[in-house]
Amino acid sequence: MASERAGALPIIVAGGGIGGLAAALGLAHNGLDVLVLEKAPEFGEIGAGIQLGPNAFHAFDYLGVGEAARAMAVYIEQLRLMDALTAQEITHLDLGDGFRARFGNPYAVVHRGDLHRVFLNACRDHGRIALRVSSEVVAYDQDGTSVSVVVASFERESGSALIGADGLWSNVRKQVIGDGPPRVSGHTTYRSVIPTERMADDLRWNAATLWAGPKCHLVHYPLSGWKVFNLVITCHNDAPEPVAGRPVAKEEVIKGFAHVHEQARKIIDLGTDWKLWVLCDREPAENWVDGRVALLGDAAHPRLQYMAQGACMAMEDAVCLAYMVAMHPGHIDDGLAAYCSRRVLRTTRVQLLSRQMGEHVYHPAGAHAQLRNAVMRAKTQEEWYDVLQWLYGGTGLGEKNFG
Ligand SMILES: Cc1cc2nc3c(=O)[nH]c(=O)nc-3n(C[C@H](O)[C@H](O)[C@H](O)COP(=O)(O)OP(=O)(O)OC[C@H]3O[C@@H](n4cnc5c(N)ncnc54)[C@H](O)[C@@H]3O)c2cc1C
Repeated sequence: MASERAGALPIIVAGGGIGGLAAALGLAHNGLDVLVLEKAPEFGEIGAGIQLGPNAFHAFDYLGVGEAARAMAVYIEQLRLMDALTAQEITHLDLGDGFRARFGNPYAVVHRGDLHRVFLNACRDHGRIALRVSSEVVAYDQDGTSVSVVVASFERESGSALIGADGLWSNVRKQVIGDGPPRVSGHTTYRSVIPTERMADDLRWNAATLWAGPKCHLVHYPLSGWKVFNLVITCHNDAPEPVAGRPVAKEEVIKGFAHVHEQARKIIDLGTDWKLWVLCDREPAENWVDGRVALLGDAAHPRLQYMAQGACMAMEDAVCLAYMVAMHPGHIDDGLAAYCSRRVLRTTRVQLLSRQMGEHVYHPAGAHAQLRNAVMRAKTQEEWYDVLQWLYGGTGLGEKNFG
């Protein structure tokens, strides 16, 4: 256990994505100076949508951006699960008053750029946060009282601690855990955002809709005050190499979906400027802390997107990190260790369940799919809310859930 020096150095955050900026904000609100080092030449997010469970709203409020985040969200009425072979609804989850009363917050969808901007503006307005771009963190050393961070330009920055919020391919993780590259899932995701007037009339639902078919699924929902629709479609085609954001022709996209109902397949025709990702995740790790260095968000617990919880978990991490560091004044290493131990089981559960949802809900065929339909149709709304209580009922601090 090492004590802090007076006149402390800033906490360095590697990565200015949603997780890194949320962490910077939480730490700064607790009176700590923060330096965010972002690899890209400017801060930003890809132009696609993101779903936010009620747990995200608990985090927004803790981080002081609740009002701004609520202002740019679209409040959908349902999560809807369709059978992509028959175009019949399997089940839906009502997100109205009963849901909000149960979990204390709504479910919403937002444009990633809008959400990122909420955090970026709040960081820019905060006197304790410094933001720097074109600054890739490549390595660190530590001596028990501070951390020396090596930036790609061969400069060094000194901090009282380092938070590795540097995403799926985290350099900081290479040193903290050193478990090699992420696992390639073999699942390929294609994304497009289209103006609402281009969306088919019979698909303009106020819902996040998922069409589940053999080895594939399709998702759509409205965004940005209903100006656009987000389209995300995925097929399990055993793609061998990781890919992120490569433009792809519609003729290639459609290949994995020839077997689904025409109403679902139409979504692919509606899309334009499709981009492709080959999804990766990792086995859960037990420890993401090395002395004064800790991982956060995708750097710590990357998962498939099938629970729509990656950004939500990164924001919960930020809340818990800020809280635990504040609870251990003068002993930041203890604060980081407490943060990790509060978060690890909850994020492990999301990592493992995300894989299982792909296998048992989104992509099964034949009798496996019939079983899914029967089991999911049988549940009442209250039973669904009970199933989701562990996830949506928490604040990210770990007091109501694991740890
Ligand atoms: C198709 C898809 C759909 C998804 N849908 C949802 C959803 O509906 N809901 C949800 O909650 N989540 C969703 N997610 C997950 C979510 O997008 C991620 O979990 C979340 O964005 C992770 O945030 P992060 O800040 O940890 O990492 P990132 O967003 O990856 O940010 C990392 C940042 O660090 C920078 N960086 C990288 N390396 C370095 C370095 N060495 N030094 C400095 N900077 C560095 C990067 O440029 C980037 O700005 C989805 C993911 C995918 C792929």
